[in-house]
Amino acid sequence: MPVDMGGINAGIRFHRKIRLNAAKQSVTHQRRQERDRRRAQARLRVFPRDRKICQTAARFRKIGAVQDGIVKGTEATMILIVGAGIAGPALGIALRRAGIDTVIYEASDRPRDDAGAFLNLAPNGLSVLRELGLGRRVDGLGFQNDRLVFHNETGRMLADVAVGGNTLMRGALSRALREAAEEVGVRFEFGKALSSVTVRDGGVEARFADGTSAHGSSLVGADGIHSRTRYTCFPDAPKPSFTDIINLGGVVHTTLPETGTAMHMIFGRRSFFGYAVRPGGETYWFSNFAQKEEPRGTLERFGVDRVRRDLLHLHRDDPPEVTQILQAITGNVGAWPVYDIPSLPVWHRGAVCLLGDAAHAIGPHVGQGASLALEDAFVLAKCMRDIPDAPRAFATFEHLRRDRVEPVVKQSRRTGRQKAPTGWIGRKMRDLILPTFLKSSAQAAQELYGFALDWNERIAYEA
Ligand SMILES: Cc1cc2nc3c(=O)[nH]c(=O)nc-3n(C[C@H](O)[C@H](O)[C@H](O)COP(=O)(O)OP(=O)(O)OC[C@H]3O[C@@H](n4cnc5c(N)ncnc54)[C@H](O)[C@@H]3O)c2cc1C
Repeated sequence: MPVDMGGINAGIRFHRKIRLNAAKQSVTHQRRQERDRRRAQARLRVFPRDRKICQTAARFRKIGAVQDGIVKGTEATMILIVGAGIAGPALGIALRRAGIDTVIYEASDRPRDDAGAFLNLAPNGLSVLRELGLGRRVDGLGFQNDRLVFHNETGRMLADVAVGGNTLMRGALSRALREAAEEVGVRFEFGKALSSVTVRDGGVEARFADGTSAHGSSLVGADGIHSRTRYTCFPDAPKPSFTDIINLGGVVHTTLPETGTAMHMIFGRRSFFGYAVRPGGETYWFSNFAQKEEPRGTLERFGVDRVRRDLLHLHRDDPPEVTQILQAITGNVGAWPVYDIPSLPVWHRGAVCLLGDAAHAIGPHVGQGASLALEDAFVLAKCMRDIPDAPRAFATFEHLRRDRVEPVVKQSRRTGRQKAPTGWIGRKMRDLILPTFLKSSAQAAQELYGFALDWNERIAYEA
């Protein structure tokens, strides 16, 4: 019988192909399984001590609601968060811990991991991060900063106070929060600048500048000091007020001696200056100068040479370290006019609530804005977990938070005023009273750091 070798070869090739395809598919399937397993583990790792989230995550996986690591919620249950700064992603993480679905809409068209300069996270903010399972991620990002050493314009030390905290780049913090949020299934949408919000029966509609819109059961505005959520939903709310201070700062390299875990603060003749020197000469600095007129887009216009020259002139009578730091500026000087809002009459309306700076904008003078925003996120998530009706959850959140944050906003304003330059007599008086003032402020700060965090505590609505 003639043997059709071509046909047999074709048959062998065909079977090989099937086996190969099957093997390939099995490898792909295994890879997919491995990827899903790693993602699921990563999600669970964020809250290793929390059984509830493990159960919740498992439940979502079981019903197949997790797709590509993202929890797909429905319009009826989805919480819309506006702003991926600090409060927004922290709320996303805490809500997922409570088993609630969220999506975060951010105006910037990409993650701003390079945004802003550095900030100090106080112990109360660090405690929230630890409680949310981010301790390890954040510990490696910055450096410990637990003493503030104050000097007058001659360099004489006025006070050395214990504070506590971590100094880290704002962008690095934002990135750590975003990555942790993504791991637990929070979805981020960039390039979505909120333009307006409509509250309807049983839900909200957010409209964005690019013409798109999103629907959810409620909306949380974590969109910072110039919050669009606040402007659109609370048109009668007071506007942020300029506090007559401009903050400039950055990181340079100098040959100054290391400052260990201390940050030095100088009440300069004309402007306030702060710095810390890390091993290798990496030097973190800022200057707060007083200016009566509110700047309107003028700060970015000046090039680095002009900024360096002006700062050197401003600090010409201050200790030599200041000059050395300013001379080392080669680029990247950030400039921020300082605003605050002493008090908003209300933080929520119907299914819309404000969070972080959007609700209680605070100046940088007591280093608490980011920490309070983190605390807010933690408390709001607990309220939303325990009180299913959003307006009631929001009312309870405001009730629990207002008395804590408003005195801190006032304290920051008072501290900011102390930084303003003054005449000879004023300086002498300041040098006399400042050590006592700073010591009592530091004592108040210690009390502030002791924020009680208890995820398991239940929250009830009180009419
Ligand atoms: C110069 C300076 C120094 C500071 N230093 C410290 C410090 O050392 N320690 C400290 O604790 N705090 C400090 N703060 C305060 C701190 O930065 C804020 O309190 C903190 O960032 C508030 O977090 P948030 O998430 O509420 O707002 P933000 O961090 O401002 O985040 C708001 C987010 O919303 C986005 N957004 C804005 N508008 C829209 C829109 N229409 N649609 C969608 N998204 C939008 C923004 O792009 C941003 O990502 C400082 C502030 C300044 C200005």
